[in-house]
Amino acid sequence: MSNNETTAPTNFIRQIIDEDLKNGNHGGMVHTRFPPEPNGFLHIGHAKSICLNFGIARDYQGGLCNLRFDDTNPHKENQEYVDAIQEDVRWLGFDWDKRLFYASDYFQQLHDFAVELIEKGRAYVCDLTAEETREYRGTLTEPGKDSPYRSRSVEENLELFARMKAGEFEDGSRVLRAKIDMASPNMNMRDPTLYRIRHGVIHHQTGEEWCIYPMYDFTHPISDALEDITHSLCTLEFENHRPLYDWALDNISIDCHPQQIEFSRLNLQYTVVSKRKLTQLVDEGHVAGWDDPRMPTIAGLRRRGYTPASIRTFSDRIGVTKSDNSVEMGMLEACIREDLDANAPRAMAVLHPLKVVIENYPEGQVEQLTTATHPKDESMGTRTVPLTREIYIDKADFREEANKKYKRLVTGGEVRLRNAYVIKAEQVIKDEHGEIVELRCTYDPDTLGANPEGRKVRGVIHWVSATEGVPAEIRLYDRLFNHPNPDGDKEVESFLEHINPDSLLTLTQAMVEPSLKGAKPGDRFQFEREGYFTQDKDSTTEKLVFNRTVTLRDSWAKIEQQSK
Ligand code: ATP
Ligand code: MG
Repeated sequence: MSNNETTAPTNFIRQIIDEDLKNGNHGGMVHTRFPPEPNGFLHIGHAKSICLNFGIARDYQGGLCNLRFDDTNPHKENQEYVDAIQEDVRWLGFDWDKRLFYASDYFQQLHDFAVELIEKGRAYVCDLTAEETREYRGTLTEPGKDSPYRSRSVEENLELFARMKAGEFEDGSRVLRAKIDMASPNMNMRDPTLYRIRHGVIHHQTGEEWCIYPMYDFTHPISDALEDITHSLCTLEFENHRPLYDWALDNISIDCHPQQIEFSRLNLQYTVVSKRKLTQLVDEGHVAGWDDPRMPTIAGLRRRGYTPASIRTFSDRIGVTKSDNSVEMGMLEACIREDLDANAPRAMAVLHPLKVVIENYPEGQVEQLTTATHPKDESMGTRTVPLTREIYIDKADFREEANKKYKRLVTGGEVRLRNAYVIKAEQVIKDEHGEIVELRCTYDPDTLGANPEGRKVRGVIHWVSATEGVPAEIRLYDRLFNHPNPDGDKEVESFLEHINPDSLLTLTQAMVEPSLKGAKPGDRFQFEREGYFTQDKDSTTEKLVFNRTVTLRDSWAKIEQQSK
């Protein structure tokens, strides 16, 4: 095992692999795969699987990981998802080189293996209706009954299967089933369906070539074996499919027999990680699309300002185990906060602007103040921030009166403008409704980089030049759901009832410092005292748009603490 710094922490799967390597199993190879179905965008749960599978390939000598599209349900799949999945895996920092496959690449081989099973008397064509099949299957406590078609001759089965393939039968009229054991305590072993008929769908890879499609449980083990996969890692719900996985490989002529190992799915609080539910959010317009920054999709997290490294760190920290766990959103947020604290350039943005006129500052003067881009990282250099007679500060940073605990500006009091001078609030201008519309201040020209003598300033506030600054729209995001487990709450009919109506707050009047004019969509910043933000692709030359990635501190932790 290589010991470079990107090596992920060990877990029970890596321990199994270590043991296999020691014993020379699987020819001393480590070959994994990530097998998404292209029926939606990838989400943070998939990121766990990607980091696990590709991480193992990265960390073990000679390790390989395939990207394989598990594309056997063409009516739910499309090329847009195929493309998005590739973009997201690559963005996460993983590469499959030439090892990109589709289960549909194997349709002919899968068909031929099905014929082999029929020839061996281990598969048969069944004409039961879906409802009858359910009745015959039995229950968890009662054995099933054999289908009356179970005893068909090999010849008849071969002929019927050929006619299914040739398109002679309607959807649902017949299936090919494995002949295993209708009394098995494992329901998956009660003559599971191997092939079904589906007319009238155009498969994104194979077009109209096929009208019979193999089932996942038949396709998956064979695809793994054809690709020489050594360890087939999947989530726990497939644990009781493992006997079928092994049965398929044991009953056909194939040498490779990958080892299926199950691990627990990631569940993240205050969101849902199921493609079906995410599809519903998109289709019903509860969000603006798969890459809506509130979505737990990779595309949504990217647009929200998450970095690939922060998601990889998160995957490492949650670990890989067999026990189901529900991870706090705060854990994901902590990962991006740490990354951006260390790496995001600083800038100033005023979200709720209040105009300040510095009366003793020369009209027309623009003073370019040189400022560190990052307080703890000199290598990031400096930027210039222009100061002018008219500036904006945040409404929350001024009160007409306040006690000493208020570390901001009050009438007659002084604060330092971040990286600039000390100003004093002299006079408030109000409109006819009594709303403060402007603040008149004075500044002390001797306080640039020096404390005023003999007096104390209350604190430091951020600001932006009113004449040199740039207007911006700022989108503040909160959790998409206001319930920690929207999916699992039995009290409500639908998880949609837990949608947080205040998950997006758009501020259209914000001002940002002019150095941000050169930023590109995807660039990330800390807006001092406000949080971490990224430029959104909706930005135009007239108006910059920023998404808040995460606040500076975990405000939810505090709320949850208080409510205890
Ligand atoms: P969904 O229920 O969201 O559709 P899925 O498992 O059907 O998920 P696939 O495209 O089949 O989605 O998943 C590809 C791989 O990602 C599988 O190996 C699956 O086990 C894994 N995966 C999916 N969701 C999670 C999750 N929440 N945590 C860990 N791994 C996951
Ligand atoms: Mg699936």
